[in-house]
Amino acid sequence: MDGELRSATWPTVSRGCTVLVPVGSIEQHGPHLPLDTDSVIAAAVAERVAASLTEGQPSAGRFVVAPTVVYGASGEHQSFAGTSSIGSDVLRLLIVELVRSMRTWARRLILVNGHGGNAAALSSAVRTLLAEGHEVSWHACKGRAVDAHAGYSETSLMLHLDPGRVRRDLMVPGNTRPLAALMPAMREAGVEAVAPNGVLGDPVGATPEEGERVLSAMVRAMVVDVLEAGLVATS
Ligand SMILES: [Zn+2]
Repeated sequence: MDGELRSATWPTVSRGCTVLVPVGSIEQHGPHLPLDTDSVIAAAVAERVAASLTEGQPSAGRFVVAPTVVYGASGEHQSFAGTSSIGSDVLRLLIVELVRSMRTWARRLILVNGHGGNAAALSSAVRTLLAEGHEVSWHACKGRAVDAHAGYSETSLMLHLDPGRVRRDLMVPGNTRPLAALMPAMREAGVEAVAPNGVLGDPVGATPEEGERVLSAMVRAMVVDVLEAGLVATS
């Protein structure tokens, strides 16, 4: 098999492999980015982390990238049309059941998260799964981002990964205050209360080159995280 679970046939799946599962969202990303932006980014990071681990840890066995869990917990974006959220409770259960199923043939699971709103569900799911004895960890896509949502960093990433789906003519600034300052109002009334166009940051000036740099930084940070979590044998 070529490292993509969706294209595998059952006899080609190596028992004992490590599976990376990208977890994203379908939620508004401003007027200029597609709803599946977080899912695209999580999948790209997972693919590159798998490639990097395969290169650096040849003795650690096969790394396989699973199809992306595209729906996530996006309640804070719900007032924008298109946002399709399954909420934290369902996401937590989905992850628990998915990992239990995959663990009947996979040795380890690495959950690659592309959407901050999924964090609570992922930590809770992983806690349950670790208590059951599964080898699993979750990791956030992080590193180099200068703004929070549909701004310079995410737009640069999408210009690098999927430029044909970025509406450059509709790139306008949103709320550029730091996320920490916006959090209380956002918790209370959602993203729209602080950013009517759905953008937290400023996409103007985003470039594919910056997107490539952000992506590499995310991949490097996650490889370190995965190795630190002790999920990949180093000998
Ligand atoms: Zn996003």
